[in-house]
Amino acid sequence: MRHLISIKDLLPDELMSLIDISDDIETKPQKYRSIMGGKVLTNLFYEPSTRTSSSFHSAMLRLGGSVIQINEVQYSSVSKGENLQDTILTIGSYSDFIVLRSQYEGDAKIASEVSQVPVINAGDGAGEHPTQALLDLRTIYKNKETLEGLKIVFVGDIANGRTVHSLGTYLENNNQCHYFETYEDMTAELSDADVLYMTRVQTERGSTESYELTRDHVDVLSDKCIVMHPFPRNDELPRWFDSDPRAKYIEQMKHGLFMRMAILTSLD
Ligand code: ASP
Repeated sequence: MRHLISIKDLLPDELMSLIDISDDIETKPQKYRSIMGGKVLTNLFYEPSTRTSSSFHSAMLRLGGSVIQINEVQYSSVSKGENLQDTILTIGSYSDFIVLRSQYEGDAKIASEVSQVPVINAGDGAGEHPTQALLDLRTIYKNKETLEGLKIVFVGDIANGRTVHSLGTYLENNNQCHYFETYEDMTAELSDADVLYMTRVQTERGSTESYELTRDHVDVLSDKCIVMHPFPRNDELPRWFDSDPRAKYIEQMKHGLFMRMAILTSLD
């Protein structure tokens, strides 16, 4: 892989190979401790982030590399009107990887077209979030031992949720998904769900919906259904559910670290 811009760039074999690498990294971290020695990654974030930014940061440090962190683009030359292309060319002169989060769909693609170094799309507006999809797929695979024949119920702001776009697209494009249906009320779909994937309302993109996982919903879930959420969460996922063994969203974060380490080792 040269860049990771869309989940559409990834074939099922490549996903399995990334999962294998991430397993090896998890079980034998010392083997990977210095493979990025002397290399630099820049985290270029035009939108807020906690998990994506810090897990890429941690991933690069654990592989022996270094990180330039740019969160507050208003303190960079972006505030002087510098365009994305010039920013990418500049950062590519100083670093070996660029992890880019931007407000606008398509920005990661534009960046990859000019960049001399691998660009990783860490979320482009309401577009995609491919590395989140990869860690979501690892979470599902580790818990279900398959990606096929599963009923996944996505709940939330589907139109604007880029994590759902990437995960849904991967499943659909690779025949792991046979059909999508949309419902206004989740209740009827929960009893035979294998995965309940909750997401928040994307208020920053103008959404005003409101919904919440209630005790009545949880009572309907089977014992084998896992509950995921890319985080941050708001009111849709109450904290009282955190101690339930089906809650996998904290574990999901850890999958992100190993998967992002695997992604970095696979880009050239
Ligand atoms: N952290 C995820 C994202 O950046 C999910 C979210 O913000 O709702 O897309």
